[in-house]
Amino acid sequence: MTDRISHWIDGKPVSGTAGRTGDVFDPATGQVRAQVDFAGPAEVERAVAAASAALPGWRGTSLAGRTRVLFAFRELLQARKDELAKIVTGEHGKVESDAAGEVARGIENVEYACGAAQLLKGGFSENASTSVDVYSIAQPLGVVGVISPFNFPAMVPLWFVPNALACGNTVVLKPSEKDPSAAVFLAELLAEAGLPPGVFNVLHGDKVAVDGLLEHPEVKAVSFVGSTPIARYVYETGTRNGKRVQALGGAKNHMVVLPDADLDLAADAAVSAGFGSAGERCMAVSVVVAVDPVGDELVAKITERMRLLRVGDGRNPDSEMGPLVTRAHHARVSSYVDAGVTEGATLAVDGRAVEADGAEGGFWLGPTLFDHVRPGMSVYTDEIFGPVLSVARAADFDEALALINANPYGNGTAVFTGDGAAARRFQNEVEVGMVGVNVPIPVPVGYYSFGGWKDSLFGDSHAYGPEGFHFFTRTKVVTSRWPDSSHAGVNLGFPKNS
Ligand code: NAD
Repeated sequence: MTDRISHWIDGKPVSGTAGRTGDVFDPATGQVRAQVDFAGPAEVERAVAAASAALPGWRGTSLAGRTRVLFAFRELLQARKDELAKIVTGEHGKVESDAAGEVARGIENVEYACGAAQLLKGGFSENASTSVDVYSIAQPLGVVGVISPFNFPAMVPLWFVPNALACGNTVVLKPSEKDPSAAVFLAELLAEAGLPPGVFNVLHGDKVAVDGLLEHPEVKAVSFVGSTPIARYVYETGTRNGKRVQALGGAKNHMVVLPDADLDLAADAAVSAGFGSAGERCMAVSVVVAVDPVGDELVAKITERMRLLRVGDGRNPDSEMGPLVTRAHHARVSSYVDAGVTEGATLAVDGRAVEADGAEGGFWLGPTLFDHVRPGMSVYTDEIFGPVLSVARAADFDEALALINANPYGNGTAVFTGDGAAARRFQNEVEVGMVGVNVPIPVPVGYYSFGGWKDSLFGDSHAYGPEGFHFFTRTKVVTSRWPDSSHAGVNLGFPKNS
């Protein structure tokens, strides 16, 4: 008997009634570990109705009251972070240290949201005109939808949910159907923290659930993270239906290594940023751009380090890289390795024959390195989202920069150099939303905001931090005059004899 993973609506688990389910795997064994319910239109209706019913109460809860729930949630997450990390590893496959890192980055966003009382302060202009005051207030949007990808099943929901709640909204989360248990665990902790029923709901499923949220008139905004084609679809459909939408998409992140860089530091960075979480990170480095003449030496150093990487079951503390998330994803990533060979890239390390320390049926693919990759090859143009790192060669800084700026994605990038002026020029001219200087994965801390440019983000708000608070509120400006009739002789600005 496999487990059944049900929706969470109005403060309790609710079994699916649509008659559709999906398999959830243990990627390290290849076995189906659970069935997750897929929502149909009736369940979408039920979840949105619960969130709508809870809205007046939650919107009317004082800032102190909302913050108390978020503080309690933070404490519970902190106390039970290992449990959550194990849930992530069990369904995603990433090693537990990576899962723990994801949980820690998620908690950071809860801590930010605990500052709601400070962050929701409006402006006030006394006496803007005689006896007239003008002030702004930030109000919640209403019911908001959050749709998240498989690769960070705890962290990405936590990019949005705490901030949305802090701002007084109620939420329906549609997590990835590939690893849905983390979302339910978050719902349980929020309930334990004192969040009233209906304020946070989890709806499992696929396109049917997503479309239901995108079309529902009571859903006022949608935060989406996933691949670019779906992000574009969600943005277009949601905005056509009058919703506020931020839709974060895919990536092809380049890491430039200039000739004066510390090559050992750069090689360490390329390996951890290329193969951490088996490359299933939207901020993973997927292309190293080696600027002449460092290519051969850098490739040798990266190769040396890759051969030491231990691939195995994420639950084993010795493993450094786990399996891919599903059999289908494994097949897709492996097909890119085949294509890279056919297209003429140099296969420096072949991960297809990996001997993993784990069950035979696991979705294993070892770290793979292509050298002499050129634009036009599918390993260069496409987001592979697996442990496949490409090295492209560039003659100089300008060629490296032009390569990045010609790419349709613009999520993250990094430059490795000892030259401050080169780094400054890079950060100024590169057309990418998040830039690292000698930092390979420049994910902004919770009090900045996360977002790419170009095809990596549709909409104009980045995720979490100040832009998150901006996204989850709308501003009202009040212009107010209180005539004081006791001050005889004071000009109140009214026409005489009115
Ligand atoms: P995905 O696009 O397949 O799925 C994302 C969400 O959309 C899931 O909840 C899924 O159920 C839903 N979905 C899938 N197909 C749909 C359809 N046809 N219509 C409506 N909804 C649909 O992405 P994924 O494979 O889960 O995640 C990996 C992708 O997410 C990568 O492209 C990665 O770069 C991207 N990602 C981006 C960021 C970022 O911040 N930019 C962060 C994490 C992941």
